[in-house]
Amino acid sequence: LSNRASTVLSALDIPTASELHGVYDGEWCGSGDIFESVCPATGEVLAHVRSATPQELQRALDRSREAYMFFRSVPAPRRGEILRQIREALAAKREELGALISLEMGKIRTEGVGEVQEFVDIADYAVGLSRMMNGRVVASERPGHTILEVPNPLGVVAVLSAFNFPVAVYGWNLALSLAAGNATLWKPSPSTPLCSIAVTKIVSSVLEKNGIPGAVAGLVTGGKDVGASIVESEDVDMVSFTGSETVGRRVGQVVQSRFGKVLLELGGNNAAVVMPDADLSLAVPAVFFGAVGTAGQRCTSTRRLYLHSSIVQKFLSRLETLYASVHPGDPLDSATLLGPLHNRNAVEIYSNAVDHLLKTGAEILTGGASYTSLKDPLKNGHFVMPTIAIPERVDVSDKVWNTETFAPILTVGVFDELEEAIEWNNGVPQGLSSSLWTRDLRNVGKWIGPAGSDTGIVNVNVGTSGAEIGAAFGGNKSTGWGRESGGDAWKQYVRWSACTVNFSDEAPLAQGVQFSP
Ligand code: NAD
Repeated sequence: LSNRASTVLSALDIPTASELHGVYDGEWCGSGDIFESVCPATGEVLAHVRSATPQELQRALDRSREAYMFFRSVPAPRRGEILRQIREALAAKREELGALISLEMGKIRTEGVGEVQEFVDIADYAVGLSRMMNGRVVASERPGHTILEVPNPLGVVAVLSAFNFPVAVYGWNLALSLAAGNATLWKPSPSTPLCSIAVTKIVSSVLEKNGIPGAVAGLVTGGKDVGASIVESEDVDMVSFTGSETVGRRVGQVVQSRFGKVLLELGGNNAAVVMPDADLSLAVPAVFFGAVGTAGQRCTSTRRLYLHSSIVQKFLSRLETLYASVHPGDPLDSATLLGPLHNRNAVEIYSNAVDHLLKTGAEILTGGASYTSLKDPLKNGHFVMPTIAIPERVDVSDKVWNTETFAPILTVGVFDELEEAIEWNNGVPQGLSSSLWTRDLRNVGKWIGPAGSDTGIVNVNVGTSGAEIGAAFGGNKSTGWGRESGGDAWKQYVRWSACTVNFSDEAPLAQGVQFSP
């Protein structure tokens, strides 16, 4: 292993053995298929990880159930105290874990560390929540009766996550699920097993210290087969799935067909709309970050840019200057702003999208190709040029506009009226994030109101990506309608019991119904 990689791994006590166990259910095991962890910046193989066999998966599910039976009776504030300790343990490894995310996923260091911070933040939030998961007392129409709505733990929650947020998405789910008293079983992306092993080690050491069964936060690495078995399993009460629309559609149908609970966080195709009165000194850098940050591999990345006709030239020339300043580099180097795409397949998707743009007459303002002259150790990395494309016209029925290409391609359209831009914003299947740039309150009112943007995240003078944990995160339409993280998202991780309690000596029926012979 290179020095670069072994420094990162050893800081997290990940052995550089020939094979690692990729399953944790209270004990580490794993004798299934082997998955390679490959550094996207260099092509270096970081580790071989043994995933779960079907038997190991079933044992993990059984152990999750047993762990839930124990954990559901642990008082919620006590669960919060465990979360507080998890928060501390994660914060102590913030830099190291952030570096591992950069090494294995490919995002730049500040974003890797930011991802760990997101886990820390949601753990903080869930510590508070553990004393605030309030039910309700509802007025009963019957004398001597009262109605309670009680949040109870749900059971076993499976978290299936995507490669692009290999730590934070699990964090959002684990924190709420654990506060709610569930056992959580994580199936991470097959290409980021090391991040999941490192996080599980940190979390399980806290559980062990507190005498809590490790399977409260279990792990099964693996690919599509392990994922599909989890989704089909009657032993899983809720599946929280983050990933592509194609897989999410299937996951939703399967879980629904067995009447399980499902939470879907799928692809986005996010637009920024810039009005003539926008402050360009804020809008241009925000669009730059939204489109180029994480090399365009955020679900909230800015993919469509709608500019008012009066500011097109000014906006694009400033944006091009920023694009020209970007150079690919090692994501672990703190000066780098542009890391690689995650794998070879993503480069192909990027190239095909550029080809399609060219074929359909789009102008490629900048970018449009892979970097070819990189030196060791980056010459085998998956680096592509951030691209700005101007198609001949906006047609949201064309795939140029209505598909999520998971790469740094920003497609630009020009409008004259806000209503037209809103129509384009809403005219695609996805509904995750959107952002309007204006100083005019009347535009803001339109944008956030009933005739405004139909996405789950509707920002004003804030870019499409980089959400805080406080609000519920998620999108509408083909993004799946799921909500995670803050807001009322915790309410999905519990089983609601509506309890009518009769304290009286009578037993009247509701609505005055009489039923006596
Ligand atoms: P993916 O759909 O390929 O994989 C996601 C997960 O599903 C992985 O763990 C994978 O192993 C598993 N999986 C694959 N086939 C399966 C099957 N048949 N049954 C069950 N599980 C299966 O997604 P990806 O390429 O890892 O991630 C990128 C996608 O994720 C993008 O579309 C992105 O927008 C989306 N994403 C969405 C959010 C959000 O919050 N909305 C956040 C991050 C990523």
